[in-house]
Amino acid sequence: MRIARFTTGEDPLYGVITGELDEFGQPDPDSIVVALAGDPLYVGVKLLDQEHRLEDVRLLAPVLPRSKVVGIGRNYAAHAAEMGNDVPTEPLMFLKPNTSVIGPGDPIFYPPQTQNLHYEGELAVVIGRICRDVPAEQATDVIHGYTIGNDVTARDLQRSDVQFTRAKGFDSFCPLGPWIETDLDPHDFAEGRQVQTHLNGDLVQDGSTKDLIFDIPTLIAYVSSVMTLLPGDVILTGTPEGVGPMNVGDEVEVSIAGLGTLTNPVKAR
Ligand code: MG
Repeated sequence: MRIARFTTGEDPLYGVITGELDEFGQPDPDSIVVALAGDPLYVGVKLLDQEHRLEDVRLLAPVLPRSKVVGIGRNYAAHAAEMGNDVPTEPLMFLKPNTSVIGPGDPIFYPPQTQNLHYEGELAVVIGRICRDVPAEQATDVIHGYTIGNDVTARDLQRSDVQFTRAKGFDSFCPLGPWIETDLDPHDFAEGRQVQTHLNGDLVQDGSTKDLIFDIPTLIAYVSSVMTLLPGDVILTGTPEGVGPMNVGDEVEVSIAGLGTLTNPVKAR
């Protein structure tokens, strides 16, 4: 099931999207959004007698993290290498504030404090229930679904600050979407799902989730051994190699096989 958050100009609603994705991750043009009563994270999936054509609605960030977006750094060996880093011996964890989250089509704002703004296309895991100390074998039980994230990073500030809060925490630095897919599980990603980023139509990242150093259950066990996870919290699982700069006027698209495509323009702040 694909769950989106959308608006038709009125208050935002959640909805279930019908139809299949084509080989490029684009939805069937005849796809319908069936509106839901409330947030399915809290009240389950309750269909309303209200349908819209997908092309007639504006999709919003499919989840509003109540507390946090947890980032994982250097979780693909080739990306760690391109940054001149060793592969970590345990997951490298950081936080992005929930105020950094934006939705599909929303602008990534280029802050004046940086001269080197990077895209990082990533698989995002959405947590479905409050949990702590989750054993890896039970990680699937706490997952609501999967979406696409762009861990936007001011690379110069990441280097100069050493810690990541400013470099990864600006407003608009966490595009999420276009929807949450609830029917996949960690095995699907361990077997390999292609993660691609296009900048202005050029392929710049082309990785596979099979190359995650720490897999999804391991990440959930690790993160939840440190901090309680709440429904709607998001874990960004790391970016494959090929990170690079974006400029004002660019358009960045992150695609993951089976999850669709997340597209955002870059604008001056
Ligand atoms: Mg990242």
